[in-house]
Amino acid sequence: MDNRREKWGYKGIAGVIPNFDKTVRGYLNLITSHMDHSQIDQKPMIPLGHGDPSMFSCFRTSTVVEDAVVGSLRSGMFNGYANTSGIPSAKRAVADFLSRDLPNPLSPDDIYITSGCNHAIKILVSVLSCPGANILLPAPGYPYYEVNCESTGIEVRHYNLQPEKGWEVDLASVEAQSDENTVAIVLINPGNPCGTVFSYDHLLKIAKIANKLGIFVISDEVYHGLAFRSKPFVPMGVFASIVPVLTLGSISKRWLVPGWRLGWIAVNDPNRVIRETKMSDTILKYMSTSPQPATFIQAAVSDIIEKTEEDFFYKTILTLRESADICYALIQEIDCIICPHNPEGSMFAMVKLDFSRLADISDDVDFCCKLAKEESVVILPGTAVGLSNWLRITFAIDLPSLEDGLVKLRNFCNRHK
Ligand SMILES: *Cc1c(COP(=O)(O)O)cnc(C)c1O
Repeated sequence: MDNRREKWGYKGIAGVIPNFDKTVRGYLNLITSHMDHSQIDQKPMIPLGHGDPSMFSCFRTSTVVEDAVVGSLRSGMFNGYANTSGIPSAKRAVADFLSRDLPNPLSPDDIYITSGCNHAIKILVSVLSCPGANILLPAPGYPYYEVNCESTGIEVRHYNLQPEKGWEVDLASVEAQSDENTVAIVLINPGNPCGTVFSYDHLLKIAKIANKLGIFVISDEVYHGLAFRSKPFVPMGVFASIVPVLTLGSISKRWLVPGWRLGWIAVNDPNRVIRETKMSDTILKYMSTSPQPATFIQAAVSDIIEKTEEDFFYKTILTLRESADICYALIQEIDCIICPHNPEGSMFAMVKLDFSRLADISDDVDFCCKLAKEESVVILPGTAVGLSNWLRITFAIDLPSLEDGLVKLRNFCNRHK
């Protein structure tokens, strides 16, 4: 063995290896490894931990969307390479789609087509990572940001979301965390993991603070349109005349096709700050060395955006609202779990563990491991999203499984009282 190591020696990479253990997937691997596989026939796995509902028939995408891809593939016109920032029809379609809700319309030149929203995150974190820079991320948040910041060397600073205030941003903590080296603040709206939808007034306050601090806003709107109560979804680009906004999105969640890997960065920059600081050039240069989504998927985007029936979104929203309501109601019946805020959007609820009512459980990770072992129910520990002793529950699964999973969660809690 040692000889082989000497001869073929792999010496590792420069910089920091992305820490897989700290991703959602890493935590879910840990939790599922505790499942009792001898019992898997009697107790099939109930996945309340991840954010991909596409395997459930009630969350299947529209046939219009599937036909769009079949059409672009069959045309034989999209078998070649695409240009770096994406094919023109996709950029135009995304620009028009986002502009529906914006006072300053976007042009195709403002759009960069990426391999899903995660790729957009990776690009922006890299593009902003000059030596000494720091970035403000929400706690709790979406750990893909932290992991990528760690590997590019940009310093992470957390601001708080406040459970007692419907998970609104703690504006004082934003100001307290920032300094002259802060380059940007990341918002996730509608929220993962908290299921929040920020109001117009709240976003306006954030825009004004970001303007005062001179920091870009990165608005992760991958759940665009998935707001299912009275508060409407407001895109951050509405405030682009106050602060330059980089909007991130994808077709993964709204169209329920996360495996198709099609996302975007939209530059909302009426005052031309992002252009004149040359950040947009750097984005393009960075993208020229990174992979792109398949050309025929890009070519389907205009039909996907223009032709999907309103009924499809309406049905998704209704299904999510019903699931969220059932999730919230069933959690009220569990003594040791508190849900401070009924979700208003996205696919998740954050709930708090009350350890004064739990015996023989040391923390949220331990709770999730034992739950997986005893009940085959998989939930994401809050530690994974930056808030220990909480849990993130996905309600975007079919209703019978959701109910079954939450009853098993209650039985588990009763046994460990
Ligand atoms: C799912 C998710 C993403 C990743 O989206 P893809 O388009 O599938 O890469 C990014 N940000 C948040 C907050 C998400 O929940």
